[in-house]
Amino acid sequence: MSPPENKISPLKNPACRDEATPELRKPVTSLWGVGAERAAQLARLEIFTIEDLLLHRPKRYEDRRHFRKISELTKDEPFTARGKIVVLGLKRFRGGGKSVFEIILDDGTARLHCRWWNLPFMEKYFAMGDEVFVFGKLSETKPRVMTHPETEVIEGGEESFIHINRIAPIYPLTEGLPQRWLRGLIWRTLEKFETEISEPKPAPDLKFFPTRANAVRMIHFPEELTDVEIARQRLALDEFIVLQLQIQSRRKNFEARTKGLPCGGDNRLMKPFLSRLGFKLTESQTKVLREIRADMSGAHPMRRLLQGDVGSGKTAVAACATLMAIESGFNVALMAPTEILAEQNFRNFQKWFEPLGIKVELQTGSRKSGADGRWQMADGKRRPTSNFQLPSAIFIGTHALLTADFDLPKLGLVIIDEQHKFGVAQREQLVRKGSYPHLLVMTATPIPRTLGLTLYGDLDVSVIDEMPGGRGKIKTFVRAADKLPKVWEFIREEISGGRQAYVVYPRAEEQDTANDIKAVTKEFDNVQRALAPFKVGLLHGRVKSADKENTMSAFRAKQIQALVATSLIEVGVDVPNATVMLIENAERFGLAQLHQLRGRIGRGAHESFCILISDAKNVEARARLKILEETNDGFKIAEADLKLRGPGELLGREQSGVPKFRFGNLAEDLDLIRQARESVRLSVVEKS
Ligand code: ADP
Ligand code: MG
Repeated sequence: MSPPENKISPLKNPACRDEATPELRKPVTSLWGVGAERAAQLARLEIFTIEDLLLHRPKRYEDRRHFRKISELTKDEPFTARGKIVVLGLKRFRGGGKSVFEIILDDGTARLHCRWWNLPFMEKYFAMGDEVFVFGKLSETKPRVMTHPETEVIEGGEESFIHINRIAPIYPLTEGLPQRWLRGLIWRTLEKFETEISEPKPAPDLKFFPTRANAVRMIHFPEELTDVEIARQRLALDEFIVLQLQIQSRRKNFEARTKGLPCGGDNRLMKPFLSRLGFKLTESQTKVLREIRADMSGAHPMRRLLQGDVGSGKTAVAACATLMAIESGFNVALMAPTEILAEQNFRNFQKWFEPLGIKVELQTGSRKSGADGRWQMADGKRRPTSNFQLPSAIFIGTHALLTADFDLPKLGLVIIDEQHKFGVAQREQLVRKGSYPHLLVMTATPIPRTLGLTLYGDLDVSVIDEMPGGRGKIKTFVRAADKLPKVWEFIREEISGGRQAYVVYPRAEEQDTANDIKAVTKEFDNVQRALAPFKVGLLHGRVKSADKENTMSAFRAKQIQALVATSLIEVGVDVPNATVMLIENAERFGLAQLHQLRGRIGRGAHESFCILISDAKNVEARARLKILEETNDGFKIAEADLKLRGPGELLGREQSGVPKFRFGNLAEDLDLIRQARESVRLSVVEKS
């Protein structure tokens, strides 16, 4: 049996791939007028087939039924005007090869100077007397000047109705490809192939949407500008339908060929665990556990995503799920994205489980522990050496656990903590291990619904939407760097009061680079000076594991009062006595990431303070940071981040699983995604 295909493939253009007729799949070179050179240009726009061409989305539209008079153009807003070239010329400056090419347009109301700097070849596109469309805003008003406007020469001839006296599409281009030529090609291709564009299955309700063929026409040649959004939505819906079909049929295949291991448990370990835990689970945690128990005693392997804001208590839920599996006689593997987190989990589980007689073992890149401290390597397979017949154990590790040769018998449950740090590919690798264990993926990045349904559509979702009580408030402030002396003073006060602080420096890449480390090391000296005689520790990606661990335990034991770190510290670290989070160059982080970092504080009973240092002059950057001052709600922040920066940034670069859409917009299209999901669900149910 081949492994289940769980990967969400990053489709280049999911829309209508499966529905396209063979005609639409023909290469563009089969079109009249497209030779090798044009095909190469189109390929640079990722247009290979007729279908790609028909789905090439205009970047904007020009209403060429109405123009702005040149005399009415302004500096504020770009407009389209048209006029006749009355003067043109290229001026080259002596030395340095600089030049300016200028045309002067006259439309009877005024003259407009259009200038291109250092693009002398522009000269060959224009001739005296040409009628020209020009789009842009004025850079000067006396005389009226546009710098580097978009232009198109109006030509007469049979096809002129495609380009003028209508709303004309303006396409993304590539060097050497004329706007007008591409528009003509798309027009002719549409005329010829429109009837080949068919409805996907399941088809959307045509009471509410135009047909796909109509939508394709409307996206290129709308009769009114309002048509464009209607068409976009229809085409986006089709993209979501194709994606949901993939997701749901994969899930169905998976369920058809797998059986769930009986891991519901019998409470004999759970009861003493809960009574000794020291707190009562929140209602939210209990509700999630009911969902997990139902899955783990169900017919199919669990595939569940657990979302809960930082500090909401996902670890305790993971522990309960672990107990269910162990009570049922199965082993459990728990994976964390960093060694620090693996160690932290190891400590928690040891504290919780060893009194119950359950083995807890650790496996990271640099450290292996266990009953006798070693993992057997003799036969090339790595296995825990402890007696894994009975009683069952939990194995905690980093993704080192994921390596292909790791082989854990009777694996009943796999838990992945903080999954957004794992690539989708790694998750797949893991899921393929053994005989389909139950899978619980935990993430503290609140994922906006749109993304959740798209990226994790094949997982069921549980949400912990309630924080444990008894937590101090977190106050957040954005401050300019010149306020740092006051900030240090404040931090010294907090530390004198017995609290602890984090100081975080941004890093450029997912991995700490040499430059990041230089910056953070320099910062470390500054912080030591600012906080002396208090003790300060340093953590970054290149610190040796043993040192990292020592620093963390010293911090936990309050021997160190402040920790300087790169954003390595971001996920999961839990030190309730730390009440200050100072983040330098905060504008360089995404909102979701800042929220994660802020989640390191506010874990104890004391009031906590998050101070974001930023000298960003940019209005947008300031507005972004302000959102954090205003709310602590991770979902609100994630949605704002998605709108501001797009899904790739929100989830981190390694999350390559985000499909690219031509028309779909993950920040806006929740309703469409839901519709697609529902209609696909109905059609999948009907078929079975
Ligand atoms: P996260 O969801 O970010 O992984 P943790 O599991 O690390 O959060 O929990 C954060 C802190 O809250 C831990 O110290 C944990 O022991 C504590 N905690 C978890 N659940 C509860 C609860 N129901 N009541 C009180 N404290 C809790
Ligand atoms: Mg956690």
